[in-house]
Amino acid sequence: MQIEKVYEPRRFEPHWAQWWIDSGIFRASAKAPGRVFSLVIPPPNVTGSLHIGHMLEHTEIDVTIRWRRMFGDNTLWLPGTDHAGIATQMVVERKLAEEGINRRDLGREKFEQRVWQWKAESGDTIKRQMIQLGASCDWSRERFTLDPGLSRAVREVFVRLYEKGLIYRGEYMVNWCPRCQTAISDLEVAHNDVEGHLWHIRYPVNGMPGRYVTVATTRPETMLGDTAVAVNPSDERYFDLHGKTVQLPLMDREIPIILDQVADPEFGTGVVKVTPAHDLNDFEAGRRHNLPNIQVIDPNGNMTAAAGPYAELDRFEARRRVVAALEAAGNLVKVEPYALSLGTCQRCKTVVEPLISTQWFVRTKPLAEKAIDAVETGRIQFIPANWIKTYNEWMYNIRDWCISRQLWWGHRIPAWHCGECREIIVAREAPSSCPRCGSANLTQDPDVLDTWFSSALWPFSTLGWPASTEDLAVYYPTSLLITGFDILFFWVARMAMMGLEFMGDVPFRQVYIHGLVRDAERQKMSKTRGNVVDPLVVTEKYGTDAVRMALLQGAAPGTDIVLTEERMESSRAFANKIWNASRFLFMNIERSAVEPWVPDSLETFLPEAEADSLEVPIEDRWIFSRLNNCAEQCNRALENYRYHEVAQTLWHFFWHEFCDWYLELKKLRFQEGSGLDAGWRNTLAAFETALRLLSPAMPFLTEELWQRLAGGRPTRPVSIAIAPYPQYRQELTDFDAEREIAILQEIVTLARTLRTESKLDPKQPLTGALYSRNSSVEIARRHVSAIQKLANVQLELHGDAPPKAAAMRSTAQFDLVLHVPQQQEEAHRKRLEKEREQLERNIANSERQLNDQVFLSKAPPHVIDSIRKKLADYQEQLKKNLR
Ligand SMILES: [Zn+2]
Ligand SMILES: [Zn+2]
Repeated sequence: MQIEKVYEPRRFEPHWAQWWIDSGIFRASAKAPGRVFSLVIPPPNVTGSLHIGHMLEHTEIDVTIRWRRMFGDNTLWLPGTDHAGIATQMVVERKLAEEGINRRDLGREKFEQRVWQWKAESGDTIKRQMIQLGASCDWSRERFTLDPGLSRAVREVFVRLYEKGLIYRGEYMVNWCPRCQTAISDLEVAHNDVEGHLWHIRYPVNGMPGRYVTVATTRPETMLGDTAVAVNPSDERYFDLHGKTVQLPLMDREIPIILDQVADPEFGTGVVKVTPAHDLNDFEAGRRHNLPNIQVIDPNGNMTAAAGPYAELDRFEARRRVVAALEAAGNLVKVEPYALSLGTCQRCKTVVEPLISTQWFVRTKPLAEKAIDAVETGRIQFIPANWIKTYNEWMYNIRDWCISRQLWWGHRIPAWHCGECREIIVAREAPSSCPRCGSANLTQDPDVLDTWFSSALWPFSTLGWPASTEDLAVYYPTSLLITGFDILFFWVARMAMMGLEFMGDVPFRQVYIHGLVRDAERQKMSKTRGNVVDPLVVTEKYGTDAVRMALLQGAAPGTDIVLTEERMESSRAFANKIWNASRFLFMNIERSAVEPWVPDSLETFLPEAEADSLEVPIEDRWIFSRLNNCAEQCNRALENYRYHEVAQTLWHFFWHEFCDWYLELKKLRFQEGSGLDAGWRNTLAAFETALRLLSPAMPFLTEELWQRLAGGRPTRPVSIAIAPYPQYRQELTDFDAEREIAILQEIVTLARTLRTESKLDPKQPLTGALYSRNSSVEIARRHVSAIQKLANVQLELHGDAPPKAAAMRSTAQFDLVLHVPQQQEEAHRKRLEKEREQLERNIANSERQLNDQVFLSKAPPHVIDSIRKKLADYQEQLKKNLR
């Protein structure tokens, strides 16, 4: 039963991480008995390595799934990664750039090969890291969004949606990134508040000399592409302009004045310019009025030939020149500063250009209706529930989803274009000839699908769909999804739509949305701030279990998680405390030659009586009652995703009940030489049960100690990870024992507090007297020997009121008087006197500063504040000193 002096998690964590996988205990079986509890991982990008946000997410998932597994549920945690189209393509393009190669020189096929090669070399990083951190996934079911099976699902979904008319190809305004050279979805556009300008430009009205309309724009260069100006039909100021035209300055083009709702009479002059090729609202207005689209900016962000004298200029240079020319012609009315939200590419920060292009779209409205209904009827629950509002807001205003991307890495769109008759053929497999004209001159659409298209199918494509597999029948719908709010629309909402459409059922029954991990100042972690916590560094330093515990402690639903070095340090101290407790247990087991022991029936153990007294020792009754309470709280908290409560409950139990009181009381019992048989079995059973309660949160430490507790013999079951999770049992609750030990704790705490407050040496034995006028004095009498040893006080017990004394302290139950010996009293008096002098000096100093007007006018407020706080603190200490 030897156990190392120091808790060194690196010594055993790698061993168990590998052993869990080798032993196959996390492998799911559709045929296994028990209630089903399944969950798919939010697939991390294959380019990624684990960051602290992943570790939080994976810890929460792991705690829940381990808890369910210990319940005996048929659990599945399905892991995998996402091919992350644009992110991965950029990583490999950067690598190629280092070799001086452009992907276009390489060609599509060779480029794709390079990405696969990169994936083979680096794509496993996340998996290795997850194994290291103890994630209890079923790695035999690991999936990748570009696996053949998942790709088949993608083609199947595409074809079915197309056949249903829910996928179409069309011209539409998309967000275009001139750097990445691809369309990006609304969600991939980052919006930054910047200080821009509003340029007011006047256009002369034809046939009405001296009459102008003034429009305001934040992007004056787009005026080159104006094909109308609009006024609101109800705007009386412009009734005389109905049916007229204006002359577009710089381009000298005659354009109509149209009547449209796009012009808001309340905003500015009430006249707006209409540029259908470069603004979404204008594009839609243009469609309503059959206006031509004049594209003046090209996909590279340069001006087109249609921009006349500005052709080939960069769009920002064109803006400068357009403004200058307008001013020179006297058509610039004014310029004002204007705060605007500038859309940039989330990946590369380039300013996004709205452009019209031909893309593939999913018609989302009919899909969204079902997904809204699923949430409204509670078939999908959000925790915390306030996320429903965010979800609904987006779903009710959903726009068609542009799913084509001009990239090479991803699922290529299963559509072929006929070179002869321009027919478009959408099919599961490449067609050999055009069904319309018979030509074999077919080329596949060059675009790939938005990476979220395949992620949207993840809960069923990973389980074998479109085949009807046993896994699908058993594990779909999944029970739970744990994810971050940032992908609520990208992913959660789309999974809901696709799951309902193709499986006829929700993809998950509950969605738990976790918070962000922040630093000690509650700041977001970011590379630029330099406050990023690397999970691999901190788990190396503190141990995986300690970091998990530190994360869980802050993980209250609906809040962000503050992770500090102090919290991780104290969590390591917590692990160390448990380690030391087990050291004490193991050493005593060996000393008393007791057989190491784990009860045969883990679920029904009851504390046993001592052979000599035929009674169950009071401390054993108490600890089992407390343990029972802890089990009840942990189960309830886990049921409600209150991870912080699980962590705090376990912490309190181990530290403040098991270690601080129970083991101390046990030590006394063993010193008396009694309780070596039954007492030991009770202690070991309590410790073993507590380890099982802690196991989901701290799997490594508990596995290590649990296996050692079995003394190296084979355990049944083979791992604590599949031993039953302790449940509340009424027969273990013992209110009498709880009351007795509470009274004992109260007296010992009273004596310790009195010693500390009076600055007495804790090792110095004292005598004292305890007064109480109620029945609790009888309970104190029963435990007087233990109280005396734990508090290091020789006590007299009285059933009446106490005399007034110097060293005295009271609670509702008791008055305690300590007799301080002459010598100590003298020393104590001197110490107090010295302390008083120092406090008086400090108070005088602080008061002087706070009365100094010059100082007050110059010092920063936080300095003054801290002096005030200190002063209050000194005064408080002085009050105590004088007592
Ligand atoms: Zn970009
Ligand atoms: Zn054809």
